[in-house]
Amino acid sequence: MTISLNSLPAIAGPVFVPGDEGFAAEIAAWNVATTHEPLVVVGATGPQDVAAAVRWAGTQGLPVFVQATGHGAVRPATGGVLITTSRMRDVSVDPLTRRARAAAGVRWSQVIEAAAPHGLAPLNGSSSQVGVVGYTLGGGAGPLGRRFGFAADHVRSIEIVTADGALRTIDADREADLFWAVRGGKGNFGIVTAIEFDLFEVDGFWGGGIYFPGTHAAELLHAYRTWSAGLPEEMSTSVALLRLPPLPELPEPLRGAFVVHLRVAYLGSDEDGAALLAPMRAVAPALIDDVSRLPYAAVDAVHRDPVDPMPSRERGVLLGELTAATVDRVLDAAGPAVDVPLAMVELRHLGGAFARTPAVPNAVSGRGAQYSLFAIGLGLPDLVPVVDAAIDRVLTVDRLPSGLLNFSGEAAPEALLANWAPADRDRLLRVKHAYDPTNVFCGGQAIVA
Ligand SMILES: Cc1cc2nc3c(=O)[nH]c(=O)nc-3n(C[C@H](O)[C@H](O)[C@H](O)COP(=O)(O)OP(=O)(O)OC[C@H]3O[C@@H](n4cnc5c(N)ncnc54)[C@H](O)[C@@H]3O)c2cc1C
Repeated sequence: MTISLNSLPAIAGPVFVPGDEGFAAEIAAWNVATTHEPLVVVGATGPQDVAAAVRWAGTQGLPVFVQATGHGAVRPATGGVLITTSRMRDVSVDPLTRRARAAAGVRWSQVIEAAAPHGLAPLNGSSSQVGVVGYTLGGGAGPLGRRFGFAADHVRSIEIVTADGALRTIDADREADLFWAVRGGKGNFGIVTAIEFDLFEVDGFWGGGIYFPGTHAAELLHAYRTWSAGLPEEMSTSVALLRLPPLPELPEPLRGAFVVHLRVAYLGSDEDGAALLAPMRAVAPALIDDVSRLPYAAVDAVHRDPVDPMPSRERGVLLGELTAATVDRVLDAAGPAVDVPLAMVELRHLGGAFARTPAVPNAVSGRGAQYSLFAIGLGLPDLVPVVDAAIDRVLTVDRLPSGLLNFSGEAAPEALLANWAPADRDRLLRVKHAYDPTNVFCGGQAIVA
């Protein structure tokens, strides 16, 4: 299908159609396994561009997709209008109210940098390269989460363009149902143009990571199971089985290696942190141990996620508890004895503030889980069936019915809706039908087909 752009209203940012110079760069996603194929891309510079593009798409009967960074590009945007928000980069921090406001294209690194001079920190995730809006709308489970909860739990207001092209400011009092749904229901209800949220008085933490030889995976994972269950909320941890690529930029003991990576972020004294970590340090000799006092701006050192774009295929489940049987299953499916195309299998400790309903309740799924189990493989087309089967094997454990939307990967609407309890599912669908009756926003992790 080709379309005529003659009726497109004035847009301040660039507009591309397939074949234009700049089209490929504009649609490129961080997850290079996904290639978007929209009919037109609008490089929005502000809310007016977003509203104009949504209204125009409505007149043409086209779906609308959105991309900030492409870290969450789990499925292609095909045959409609893709709005890219990477030019919407305004960030402001108010140290008096301890709040930040971020436009749609802002990455966490910008907020961290703007907040740090005031001794404040946001609830970003494992990588500061991820977009603030997409992460937060999907819940947002980060390294300080056991202490403070999900990023979505601390959103104060949201500016959003809905399917009718209206720009609305919503909060706990204004359009409360939509405010509830967007915080957890992600991109299903409109295009968020800006978001205002709380910052926390955190200027540093004790943390980082320990890399152990993969041969010790069984002792380490079983020890992590009992050790993590007894930790205070001030300590957030995860442990990952990593199959690292043979990249020259990796230090020698990690290059091309199978390793176990324990990640720690502790909001307390160095001495208390070291005492809490001691049992894990004693399990096996470390290849690299860089746990120390860090400024909050160094928070990426906890997970050391890949920065360069990569093709990824991912999925996760939530656990009510981490049983010995689950650890054995993870080891059988992805431990040192097997050859699997999985770059990472991660157990992340939840519970704590993650499990508590926030002051202004929201639609974040999976509240109450104690652990997340998540797997990522290379999303190369030839490998997808093999990777999917390997992920299935890892995730075949005693799991909760719900999952975290940000870790749910590509899934059919019915499967994504299963993340919520029936009452929340019904409420999400009611809000969806009220604000987007023709399912204009059917991209990404869509809850309606
Ligand atoms: C390396 C890496 C580390 C991660 N770490 C964590 C983590 O620690 N915790 C966690 O919870 N998640 C984590 N994630 C998952 C991440 O939060 C989601 O993939 C999130 O959707 C990424 O948002 P984005 O805007 O950067 O990506 P994009 O691909 O640009 O957007 C993904 C989706 O977000 C929604 N979205 C984006 N912008 C808007 C908007 N303006 N309005 C409405 N909807 C919008 C849309 O549904 C869109 O399809 C990680 C992902 C990666 C790749």
